[in-house]
Amino acid sequence: MKRSIFLVLSAIILLAIGCTVGATITSKDKEPCPEVTVPPKKYKDHLRYLESSLDSLHHIKSNPIPGEWLYHNRELQQYPHQFLQEHPNILEEKRNKVYIQPIGSFSKEQTEILKTTSEYISVFYHVECIILDSISSSEIPEENTRMVLLPGDEFKRKQFQTTYIMNEILQPKLPKDARAYMGFTNVDLYPNDSYNFVFGQGKIGGYLGIYSINRLGFPEWDSTAYRQCLSRTLKLATHELGHIFGFRHCVEYECLMNGSNSLQESDNKPYYLCPHDIMKVSQGLEIEETYRFEKIADFWDKHAFPERALFYRSSIRLLKKYANRIDGGIHNN
Ligand SMILES: [Zn+2]
Ligand SMILES: [Zn+2]
Repeated sequence: MKRSIFLVLSAIILLAIGCTVGATITSKDKEPCPEVTVPPKKYKDHLRYLESSLDSLHHIKSNPIPGEWLYHNRELQQYPHQFLQEHPNILEEKRNKVYIQPIGSFSKEQTEILKTTSEYISVFYHVECIILDSISSSEIPEENTRMVLLPGDEFKRKQFQTTYIMNEILQPKLPKDARAYMGFTNVDLYPNDSYNFVFGQGKIGGYLGIYSINRLGFPEWDSTAYRQCLSRTLKLATHELGHIFGFRHCVEYECLMNGSNSLQESDNKPYYLCPHDIMKVSQGLEIEETYRFEKIADFWDKHAFPERALFYRSSIRLLKKYANRIDGGIHNN
């Protein structure tokens, strides 16, 4: 979709209006209004470069329908300049690694998926990602677990409480050089009694997160089921890690950082970031876009998802074509 900087500025003005009526918003709104500031010219230019060049590959978020995340959760777009002002350095000098903490025991296939997830995180965010030895799920007390029979389920599921895992298990073990410390389990998750379940949770701009493979399929069945579970796990892990790095849900584009209320909604959202979130990664983690896309394309080729590799190679081609056009214009003047 074609977008201009004018539209971006218009949206920022609308954000300001949103803040003024914040007092009338219902208690469902959990996230505070971000402070609205005027983006420096370099941010505007870079965002325009990404939005214009990648226009044909990305789509504006469709209007939410009942049951979808955005229909029930009022959220505002976090623009790249707002993110970069709030989080000038995603990776702190002494905290620059991502650790995954397995909790409990896993099947051979789930363990393979975990290893591939670590590899994917390394290329997706250009960080070192380390898998730690598993800790026993017996560390989670009975009062922080529950058994539930949820709509659509044929059997009761055991669930672990996310907040207990993050605050009482992960926080005391947080490695000194961890920028992110994410629990990984095959048991279903819930944050509190207001929720049926969550796929995962990441503290926005914090260090901790947790995600579960429980609802993501049965990788032991066959190669199709394995690939589906792998694909879902990669999407979930990079989404939650985005939150830990400070990314809020994306409401402007169809994007990996969209919130999702169901597995179907999660399956329908892209495995890639929109131009806004691409800019947060490239500027926040100081990694050049085409270099990052090349690494991600190599990953998808290696794991036999050629259409995804093609998406990233098309992105590279479009970025280079746009940059050449701009350069050509400058030389002609
Ligand atoms: Zn989320
Ligand atoms: Zn986005």
